[in-house]
Amino acid sequence: MTTLEQKLHFDTIIERVEKARLRVNDHHIVKIVAASKYVDAEAIKSLYEIGQRAFGENKVQDLMSKSEALDALPIEWHFIGTLQKNKINHLLSVRPHLLHSIDSIELAHALNERLERDNMTLRALVQVNSAYEESKSGFLPEVFHENYTRILEECPRLHLQGIMSIGAHVDDPKIVAKSFEITRQIFDSLPGATICSMGMSSDFELAIECGSNMVRLGSVLFPKA
Ligand SMILES: *Cc1c(COP(=O)(O)O)cnc(C)c1O
Repeated sequence: MTTLEQKLHFDTIIERVEKARLRVNDHHIVKIVAASKYVDAEAIKSLYEIGQRAFGENKVQDLMSKSEALDALPIEWHFIGTLQKNKINHLLSVRPHLLHSIDSIELAHALNERLERDNMTLRALVQVNSAYEESKSGFLPEVFHENYTRILEECPRLHLQGIMSIGAHVDDPKIVAKSFEITRQIFDSLPGATICSMGMSSDFELAIECGSNMVRLGSVLFPKA
């Protein structure tokens, strides 16, 4: 795509986000995180140049190499994938803006320890498996609240900001909406939470209508990739 085509395409996505958020209310602001795992640093730079600032990667190695390649740009890097404990040092070396995917107490403790040692803090979300799918990470809804509050209490270096979920992997929008509604209900009950990260290319409008205020968009933003 030419730069102009890319800009026009990006505008259509922003417009879809805009329409969905206005169906919630005027004050419902939604942030777009561009999930850049399908593309190289060059493509990230092009999207940056037409205004996108937040990018998310789901592999620590890719986050490291792309953030290094684009070091000169003030990009806000998010980590959205499953994090293995042996990758914590590498992740923290990038100083990401937000980790979306705390999915166990063990991971939270390991992160807290490392942050403590390096005298750092990290903004993070805790992942919920509100679709009850075995292939998905995250706490089940029934035990989410107790684990979230436990991390709040036991891991002061983690600055918890809210919740993340991946919508049900099915075609029936009613079932997808159900998983988003479960996430939203939990979000509303969390002390101090401000971020509800849910919605991807196939379901972001529905996610926004169910209360998401942060969408992670990949394939829809990078159509040729
Ligand atoms: C890849 C990815 C996305 C974006 O997926 P698309 O369907 O391409 O929009 C969102 N969230 C996570 C955790 C991802 O890994």
